[in-house]
Amino acid sequence: MRSPVVKKERSPIFDLVLRNARLDGQAVDVAVQDGRIAAIGQSVGQGRQEIDAQGRMVSPPLIESHVHLDTTLTAGEPKWNESGTLFEGIATWALRKESLTEDDVIRRATELLRWQAAQGVLYVRSHVDTTDPDLTAVKAMLKVKENVKGLVDLQLVAFPQEGILSYPRGAELLEEALRLGVDVVGGIPHYELTRDMGAESVKIAFTLAEKYDRPIDIHCDETDDPQSRFLEVVAAETIRSGMGRRVTASHTTAFGSYDDAYAFKLMGFLQRADLNFVANPLVNITLQGRMDTYPKRRGMTRVKELWQNGLNVSLGYDDVMDPWYSLGTGNMLQPAHMAVHVAQMTGRKEVMACYDMVTRNAARTLGVQDRYGLAVGRPADFIVLDAQDAWDVLRRLATVTTVVKGGRPIAEATPPEVRLLGERVTFQR
Ligand SMILES: [Zn+2]
Repeated sequence: MRSPVVKKERSPIFDLVLRNARLDGQAVDVAVQDGRIAAIGQSVGQGRQEIDAQGRMVSPPLIESHVHLDTTLTAGEPKWNESGTLFEGIATWALRKESLTEDDVIRRATELLRWQAAQGVLYVRSHVDTTDPDLTAVKAMLKVKENVKGLVDLQLVAFPQEGILSYPRGAELLEEALRLGVDVVGGIPHYELTRDMGAESVKIAFTLAEKYDRPIDIHCDETDDPQSRFLEVVAAETIRSGMGRRVTASHTTAFGSYDDAYAFKLMGFLQRADLNFVANPLVNITLQGRMDTYPKRRGMTRVKELWQNGLNVSLGYDDVMDPWYSLGTGNMLQPAHMAVHVAQMTGRKEVMACYDMVTRNAARTLGVQDRYGLAVGRPADFIVLDAQDAWDVLRRLATVTTVVKGGRPIAEATPPEVRLLGERVTFQR
């Protein structure tokens, strides 16, 4: 096998050149100098190091908009969630939480980030539980964030798993996490003891966000209950505060169960608020609809309609090998592939839009648009995928063959070679 890395010594003018890549249907080279993209075009010049993309697609890196790194890689400890329900997941996590230490969290979170970086996921937003009087996971994740600098751009959300008002000192612990350096304010209004407490908890989250000048990402209406209507409170607070694109509503699965008349009215308010949405199709389709017999609801927010109405939607894995979802590798193409199916976005443009949900839309959710993307002057963070275009990526769940971070190749992979009766099968027409 030919190595994709080819050394060239002839008058190098760039640190790195990616040769023969495909971008928007065009053959291009991408040149990198001092960690930034210096040129994109044809025959850009020599590089001290060169990588042959072999006609494959180049893309900005994949982005994880919503994961829980403090619970990851614990599936089966101390027992498996055999019913697969949210409730057995919570009960199982309560058992596992008894033995939680900083080292334990650091080891597991770092390992999953390694898996993600190896698959081209270079920006990650992780929630971290603040309903713990010792804030063990928060302290651990702040260390992880420092440790992975230069490999993954990690954002942390202060997530009050057991409530801001329903857990003892919940609001104080949330604020303490922000003081310690957690980037984003979280919430979980549908899990507060009463509807009033839920609405009040959203207001507390906004007050803290304004006080500490932080974005907001709320676990909102993660239930099939059509009466769970905290999204309207989040929209109202977003309009009042003018925080707009710094606000994200995660899950909003109840939106999939709302009466159409209410959903239509709400959509107008959401457009006015211009907030971001994160859906987690792998876990939403698995955990929601569990109380239904048949017909069984899909339990996902209205991804297609939000997208059609011009709202920003991105996707998360949510859980990887933990009590709520025992499968997974952190490959962001998997939730994108699932979104195509669960949201019925099978039109050609719709499939492409699902790829945007794990790339550029997610950059907007994380607020990193100013340093993300394939453009001259931007940080040289990009990936090569064994595919022609975004549609082909999702059709075949393409291998990410090269990952470049800050101008440095950090990961490479060889797509599997399949042979039938001695002849190569490419899965291409
Ligand atoms: Zn979550």
